[in-house]
Amino acid sequence: MEDPSKVTVFYDDRVLNHSPDVNAAFLPGRLDKRVRTILSGLNVQWKYPEHPGRIQAILDLLHREPIEGVQFAGGQVATREQLGRVHTTSYLDDVFSLRNKHAWLDVDTTAVSPGSVEAAEVAAGTAIAAVEAVVSGRTRSAFALVRPPGHHAEPVRARGFCLFNNVAVAAAHAHAELGCERILILDWDAHHGNGTQDIFWADPDVMFFDIHRAAPFYPGSGGLHEVGAGLGEGTTVNVPMPGGAGDVAYIKALNEILVPAAEYFKPDLILVSAGFDAHWYDLALNVSYEGFAAMTGIVQSLADRLCDGRLAFVLEGGYNTESLSHGVRSVLDVLAGGAVPQPRVCGMEEVDQAAAFHLSAFADEPPEG
Ligand SMILES: [Zn+2]
Repeated sequence: MEDPSKVTVFYDDRVLNHSPDVNAAFLPGRLDKRVRTILSGLNVQWKYPEHPGRIQAILDLLHREPIEGVQFAGGQVATREQLGRVHTTSYLDDVFSLRNKHAWLDVDTTAVSPGSVEAAEVAAGTAIAAVEAVVSGRTRSAFALVRPPGHHAEPVRARGFCLFNNVAVAAAHAHAELGCERILILDWDAHHGNGTQDIFWADPDVMFFDIHRAAPFYPGSGGLHEVGAGLGEGTTVNVPMPGGAGDVAYIKALNEILVPAAEYFKPDLILVSAGFDAHWYDLALNVSYEGFAAMTGIVQSLADRLCDGRLAFVLEGGYNTESLSHGVRSVLDVLAGGAVPQPRVCGMEEVDQAAAFHLSAFADEPPEG
């Protein structure tokens, strides 16, 4: 057995082969035409934001500033059976028919390039590899460094840069094959994980907790009153946030809502849909690196208390490569045993420093006159 105190990053080069090019010749079609029309009206050079450089930036930073206790392992391809636990047969047929082609799948910018279908199979399979390693005890925690992301992908549809719902495929695999009876998924990406919510909407064995920027921010779902239905009523928990919400609000939401919900639900495994677009560089919310680290500390201690520490992260969004890479690093640092910071309201620390700098000037008696 490997050192079980370690955190393992699962990564496979094939996820870099998903590289949609907005200028390539796409399959002709209604959506293609519509997207092209929208793009041509924008009068800016539009680049596909979910590009291979995202992962490269993370790998470069981890190489430049390695973290003791973090080890790497390879990924794997998800089988059709594994994908079929959360996606319909007709959807899988459609996606597989696009192998080695350029195409738009959805009006909200989910495109494929020749390597995309395999990259998506590897992204889902690598999330499975991470979960298998955690459940078997080969690693204490895991981080699947994958793309395309997954949490917008619905059972029947690709959306928002996502082809297969990686975290859902991993959760369904843990439930079907690894003996996990109850799985908690925390989604802290800035966008609501509509696909994951949809997949487990009526499933009492998967609790889906999503904190995100509220509608009308993309994808527009994730209202407070969306709580699941049927047998799964109550196992969907949405915490919509106003634009600009930051560390203190996020940490309060996790401590005051996630923690009691998880203690009630008693998961065997905790998964995190970890997007880093809630960082202020991505301009929607105001979470800092210390905020991501503090949230990691909260879920890590939940996992330790409730499920023998079984905790796996799956990368979702984050489009500024600087904040994406440093955000991932701040999570890995805590998973590897680093100190958990206690973030304050942005600017408070600077005010304290400025006070220390200036106040001595006013401590003496004021000059006469
Ligand atoms: Zn996102």
